[in-house]
Amino acid sequence: MEERDVRFVRLWFTDVLGFLKSVAIAPAELEGALSEGIGFDGSAIQGFARVYESDMVAKPDPETFQMLPWRGTTGGTARMFCDIALPDGSPSFSDPRHVLRRAMKRAADMGFTFYVHPEIEFYLFRQPLVPGVEPTPVDTSGYFDHTTMTAGTDFRRSAITMLEQMGISVEFSHHEGGPGQQEIDLRYADALTMADNIMTFRVVVKEVAVMQDLFASFMPKPLAQHPGSGMHSHVSLFEGDTNAFYDAAGEFNLSKTGRHFVAGLLHHAAEISAVLNPWVNSYKRLAGGGEAPNYICWGQNNRSAMVRIPMFKPTKASSARVELRSLDSSVNPYLAFALILNAGLSGIEKELPLPDPAEDDVWSLTDRQRAALGIEPLPYSLDAAVRAMENSTLAAETLGEHVFDFVLRNKRAEYAEYLRQVTPLELSRLLPSL
Ligand code: GLN
Ligand code: MG
Ligand code: MG
Ligand code: MG
Repeated sequence: MEERDVRFVRLWFTDVLGFLKSVAIAPAELEGALSEGIGFDGSAIQGFARVYESDMVAKPDPETFQMLPWRGTTGGTARMFCDIALPDGSPSFSDPRHVLRRAMKRAADMGFTFYVHPEIEFYLFRQPLVPGVEPTPVDTSGYFDHTTMTAGTDFRRSAITMLEQMGISVEFSHHEGGPGQQEIDLRYADALTMADNIMTFRVVVKEVAVMQDLFASFMPKPLAQHPGSGMHSHVSLFEGDTNAFYDAAGEFNLSKTGRHFVAGLLHHAAEISAVLNPWVNSYKRLAGGGEAPNYICWGQNNRSAMVRIPMFKPTKASSARVELRSLDSSVNPYLAFALILNAGLSGIEKELPLPDPAEDDVWSLTDRQRAALGIEPLPYSLDAAVRAMENSTLAAETLGEHVFDFVLRNKRAEYAEYLRQVTPLELSRLLPSL
């Protein structure tokens, strides 16, 4: 830090709803922060603690030390992610990072490491952004459009440069289907590193947008007429150096382990949906087409399916993976990856059978045809998702009682508030005629 002339160290952690929290300390305090942690009032953080047991401690994880490139190189600012502990030093059960660590420990006990690579979609809007008013996208381009030096091209270049400066590798980036919609795909990493990377990604993207007098949003469905922003996630399990999802002899080169993992994802899809699609608004993306899945099924290269098995070169067995397409860009990545992992592991442990792949376009089938194929819909609203989660042993065990109860309470309240609204649609449709 002395060499790099660091003036401030930002300690980052994530609340249960997926919002980044930050406290800046002077470099002289870091020694103490590393050994004892920095105390804070947990009851003021969404989902962390009740008032009478509110003392908590943030302990920086030195492996996550990075400079914040947009704060300059002299007198600069560094950041570290923290694990949250109770005053007695034991890990806090309400820390999303701890929830994911626990799930990854279970995977490790079974001999697996869990890797993720997300395709993160988001929108770029013009300033000023007026809350309550539909925003104006920065351009009118579409999927893969090559735009000559529009705000979007320049934006992606700056954002990617900054991500790489922070040790986050980017594989692809392109314009997405909606006007002003972008996608940036990160190179795979273990799920904990990736969840940290995603939290950093959101900050970087928002910072770069502001520098260009724009506003970036990860809201699942900001524009009613255009596709929402998904965070398709490619996941795999490794046993040492071997990709446990690969089998040259398996259908689609997918191993028995891979098939059970996918079966687990399908089996538990509904009950983890309140975390994978956490807002009332998330369900508008799922219902709105635009390649967002709303049926629980899988297939190869089938873009209407919730789980897709991408084709890969047999020479690249290490890239065998499955793509889960339901989660959106607003998720708490720690909780989402923990649930995805445990859903898959439960499929492996119970040797759940994988149903037949859906090779048809499931959107074009009738309800009857889907029923005949055994294809169920994903929960169609936050309310339905909460109801599915209430009875979930998997969600309760993965999240731990405290986080599980908080998520249910918080999401029930969000839905109840939504129900109390009278929308412009109702006023324009009903007021004149009733
Ligand atoms: N935006 C779509 C979604 O919400 C995905 C589009 C794509 O990547 N093909 O999932
Ligand atoms: Mg993509
Ligand atoms: Mg995409
Ligand atoms: Mg995809």
